[in-house]
Amino acid sequence: MKSVKILGAGPAGLAAAINLSQNGYNVDIFERNLDVGNNINGNLQGLENWSGDQDVIEEFKKMNIKTNFHCEPFNNLRITNSKENWDFSCERPAFYVLKRGTDNNSLDQGLKKQALDNGVNIRFGETAPISDVDIVATGGDPKFKFAVGKGISFETEHKNVAVGLVNNYHAFKGYSYLLVSNGFGCIATVLFEGFQDLNKYFKRTLDEFQSNFDLDEKYPHKFSGYGSFSNQIMKREDQILIGEIAGFQDLLWGFGIRNAVKSGFIASKSILDGKECKDYYKIAENYFKPKLNSSIVNRFIWEKFASNNYSIILNRIYNSNDPLKYLNSFHNFNFLQKLIYPFALFYMKYRYPNLKL
Ligand SMILES: Cc1cc2nc3c(=O)[nH]c(=O)nc-3n(C[C@H](O)[C@H](O)[C@H](O)COP(=O)(O)OP(=O)(O)OC[C@H]3O[C@@H](n4cnc5c(N)ncnc54)[C@H](O)[C@@H]3O)c2cc1C
Repeated sequence: MKSVKILGAGPAGLAAAINLSQNGYNVDIFERNLDVGNNINGNLQGLENWSGDQDVIEEFKKMNIKTNFHCEPFNNLRITNSKENWDFSCERPAFYVLKRGTDNNSLDQGLKKQALDNGVNIRFGETAPISDVDIVATGGDPKFKFAVGKGISFETEHKNVAVGLVNNYHAFKGYSYLLVSNGFGCIATVLFEGFQDLNKYFKRTLDEFQSNFDLDEKYPHKFSGYGSFSNQIMKREDQILIGEIAGFQDLLWGFGIRNAVKSGFIASKSILDGKECKDYYKIAENYFKPKLNSSIVNRFIWEKFASNNYSIILNRIYNSNDPLKYLNSFHNFNFLQKLIYPFALFYMKYRYPNLKL
């Protein structure tokens, strides 16, 4: 039997493992923590449903990923800058709310179960030298950090709600959000600059949401983390890099789960098809490069047209016939983005000197 070794049991590594093991491969995953989801424990995350051509859950099914985890569709979302509100009500889910971490119904635990059911051997509390594995799926690289986030998650009796808060008082150049799904809530702030002030912005965010929503948070606990990005896809000659360690992230808002799972699937398929590492990188480049380049342009636009607390951009999205379709066109390197790209790249290289762009 052919065997594959994977480093890291996040969504990317587990998606690759599930597909390889289903097709007769003997898969070992080295996970340095004692369980999956330990490093991102207990927060709610959004699985965005606008960057691809089909519903993300349908896409997961086609990639042999079952939804055996909490996955609540949200068609409605309020974006506010504290002065104006934009109430989006979409015909199809704008995103699905997932739990991350070690709770039974989290994405991480669901993927772990699917992998274990297929016979994957997850070696918890172990690591391995990169040169000894076939696939590297170790998540963000601090050298290429572009955003930091901090939040609390809690239990609540408040009804389901999703609110994005965008203004420079609550999250300079970033955003904050409140999500409540099925009795579980989370409030977080994400910053793209001035990381040292994260506590200050998070405190303001917390005050804002607590004074506007009767959340009565029970069992609150803190989480934090960072996102890393590169549009020069990270490569090694003899190893396949997938997920965030390869640079597959979204520089605009930091939605990385969809890319992580997709890259795990592409990696498994190229191994199953008997392709070499360099062929995987070609396929990955064709798929991801337009999305990564788009997100450089999107962040440039977001920061440059931030006047009136993003109301120009938000009005544009809100007044489009179909906001999800409109957003989709900005995630696939459209004609306008290609024109703006050289200026955006020039600006972003100066703005984020640590990133490999
Ligand atoms: C606060 C926060 C909020 C976020 N919100 C969203 C959101 O709402 N929507 C969204 O789409 N994305 C969100 N993201 C991004 C998303 O979590 C990541 O993009 C995604 O988890 C990346 O998946 P991955 O498999 O590449 O890496 P990870 O999920 O980071 O998994 C990597 C795994 O590898 C293990 N590992 C690392 N190094 C080693 C080693 N040397 N040996 C063995 N094991 C190792 C780690 O312990 C970990 O389990 C958020 C991120 C943060 C920090």
